[in-house]
Amino acid sequence: MTRRRRRNHAPAFKEKVARAALKGEDTLGLLGQDAEMVQALDVTERTRWEVALREGEERLRIALDAAGLGTFDWDMASDRITWSDGDARLWGFAADEFDGTYATLRERIHPDDLRDVETKVKESRIEQKPFAHEFRIFLPDGSVRWLTGRGELKWNQDGHAYRMIGVVQDITSRKEAEREKAEHTEYLQTILDNVVNGIVTINTGGTIESFNKSANRLFGYTSEEVIGRNIAMLMPEPHRSHHQSYIERYLTTGTARIIGTDREVEGRHKDGSTFPMNLAVSRITHNGVTHFVGLIRDVTFQRQAETEIRQLAFYDPLTQLPNRSLLKTRLQQAIKESGRSGRPGALLFVDLDNFKTLNDSRGHDTGDQLLQQIARRLTHCLREGDTVARFGGDEFVVVVGELGSDPGSAAEKAQAIGKKIQSALVRPYRIGRDIFHSTPSIGIAPFDGVENNSVDEVLKRGDLAMYEAKARGRNCLQFFDPAMQALVAKRANLEADLRQALVNGQLELHFQPQVDVDGRLIGAEALIRWPHPVDGMIPPAQFIPLAEDTGLILPLGTWVMEEACRHLADWERALDGKAFQLCVNVSTHQFHQPEFVTRVREILARTGADPNRLVLEITEGLLLQIDADDVVRTLQSLKADGVGFAIDDFGTGYSSLRYLKHLPLDTLKIDHSFVRDVTSDESDAAIVQTVIRLGESLGFTVLAEGVETLEQRTWLIAHGCQQFQGYLFGWPVPATEFRKVIGTFFNTP
Ligand code: C2E
Ligand code: CA
Ligand code: CA
Repeated sequence: MTRRRRRNHAPAFKEKVARAALKGEDTLGLLGQDAEMVQALDVTERTRWEVALREGEERLRIALDAAGLGTFDWDMASDRITWSDGDARLWGFAADEFDGTYATLRERIHPDDLRDVETKVKESRIEQKPFAHEFRIFLPDGSVRWLTGRGELKWNQDGHAYRMIGVVQDITSRKEAEREKAEHTEYLQTILDNVVNGIVTINTGGTIESFNKSANRLFGYTSEEVIGRNIAMLMPEPHRSHHQSYIERYLTTGTARIIGTDREVEGRHKDGSTFPMNLAVSRITHNGVTHFVGLIRDVTFQRQAETEIRQLAFYDPLTQLPNRSLLKTRLQQAIKESGRSGRPGALLFVDLDNFKTLNDSRGHDTGDQLLQQIARRLTHCLREGDTVARFGGDEFVVVVGELGSDPGSAAEKAQAIGKKIQSALVRPYRIGRDIFHSTPSIGIAPFDGVENNSVDEVLKRGDLAMYEAKARGRNCLQFFDPAMQALVAKRANLEADLRQALVNGQLELHFQPQVDVDGRLIGAEALIRWPHPVDGMIPPAQFIPLAEDTGLILPLGTWVMEEACRHLADWERALDGKAFQLCVNVSTHQFHQPEFVTRVREILARTGADPNRLVLEITEGLLLQIDADDVVRTLQSLKADGVGFAIDDFGTGYSSLRYLKHLPLDTLKIDHSFVRDVTSDESDAAIVQTVIRLGESLGFTVLAEGVETLEQRTWLIAHGCQQFQGYLFGWPVPATEFRKVIGTFFNTP
């Protein structure tokens, strides 16, 4: 410490101290000098100056009080403290209460601060430097007061400190303010850290200046890892390369690609992954320096949610294909596009045959899996830009645009696509350990965007064509034809008409011959015919499903059975004891009637038909319900009577081959949809071969339906098929005519 001497300037000095104190300036140094100076004054001067000094002291006291300062003079050797009233007040003592010892004062110092205070005192003694420390004391009422004490040390000749003279000031309110400020800052920091938004500030050079906790969470970097580095590190390309130019553009023109706008960009995570983020940048100028504050929101979840909502609204959850609603939008676009370009498009309405049976019998889970596989196959059949949608249940709709420049070539192309879909869908499906087969019926409705081509109209036409395809038998393609519409309008009246037909005996039974390898007559299938008085002959495929839906199938089925047995008994003499089977189609619904067995027996008894000549054609669907004991019981009961069973349309359903061998069956009838292309289509050929081999191994007779050509017959014989039915051998004909067929074959006129 430098010791300055100012002997002759005491008055001016005192004034200076007082002024400084009044102004709240640091008076400590001045006081230290003053004390020494006072000592050094001579006696005469002293008297004179004592007066002045007292006045000065008085002024000083007032000034010190006003400044909230207390002075003290601590004789360290005797441990006595002399202090001003102000000091006493600061320490919470009444003017005369204090005993003047440091020991008493010491008790008032906050225990947490005491050590520090004493260490500081010691340090200033040893290191010969002024004492300055802020500490807390306890007031008698238990409250805490913050004091700052500053003192100068006076040294003995021997260099030992002997006094500390100084001031004490109450800084409680400042401390309070500081504490509040610190709390507020902490509060702000907490907010900054906890806001969901990432907040990153950069300077105009792109250097990161701050990085809050959310930013830390979003980007995976700690603030230490990014502060001081360029913001580009948080951006994927292309922003990464251009970021600085964005800033510069902003600085010069005030506009920029990202800056200043609320828009979505991508952020780059520490691990290299990117995420969509919403970035809002604002410019802040503080003390003439420009900073950019980026407010970042991770919108990944929002994006996901939006995608999910979109997915739910427009896509079928099971197959992920567009749903009906999105289909309509796409179809609308395709129609419009077609009208604009003059190139026709087409809608293909695809409906699975027999799907309901699979779904009902094997469970929805199996049905769902089949639909998923079908959706995948359909998607593979199409070009990008074409739409395949799930229209509902087992219905799919395909929209293809730009099929060619004229309706002719467009129809050809649409047909080619239909065939492609057909062959993709008939391939076997593996679900779990089982293999299933499915066939589609496809209706094609071309559109050109010109005449009457509203979305609903095109859809309706596709639907109509599909129904027509179904009516023609399974696995068929059918183009829309305006005549269909008239037909469909009639369908509504059909039910009433059918009832009438049953009552009025308008229905007829026709018989189609069945032959063996050598062309010998071995039986017939009874097929129902409805010569409608107004509409002409209505094919069974049109009214049988209707009869099934309305329950009319029961009286209808009974009528068929009765009629068939009646003729069978009638032909007995002409059959002349030769082997002959009469096949009668039995609907699933009919078969499930509890009184079915009784009814068949009654009819057999009443008509006198030979049960051994009767074969009931049931469908695969029925066999799928094999767990239903009544199916087996029915089969066995009638079997015991001599009645035979054939599985109709074999291959189109979903037979689980494992069950077949446990059933009392006689014949497998290969569906004519497989026979049709057996010589040209490899997969059809494979299916037919499989069915024949299966029949052989299970001991069933295999009969091919729909044989129309010699080639088919030759192929079938070559592959081991034993029985045949089809136009090649004979059309279904009325009973009287069939009676003649029998006579010719068996030579019994
Ligand atoms: P289905 O049992 O498969 O009957 C065979 C169908 O193939 C018959 O059609 C028959 O006329 C037709 N067909 C015969 N030979 C050929 C051929 O060489 N080529 C082609 N393309 N087709 C041929 P139909 O008479 O129109 O009967 C359609 C379906 O209606 C039948 O299919 C059957 O499921 C049902 N059905 C017919 N009569 C009855 C019946 O009395 N009761 C029940 N429940 N259903 C019947
Ligand atoms: Ca049949
Ligand atoms: Ca059949």
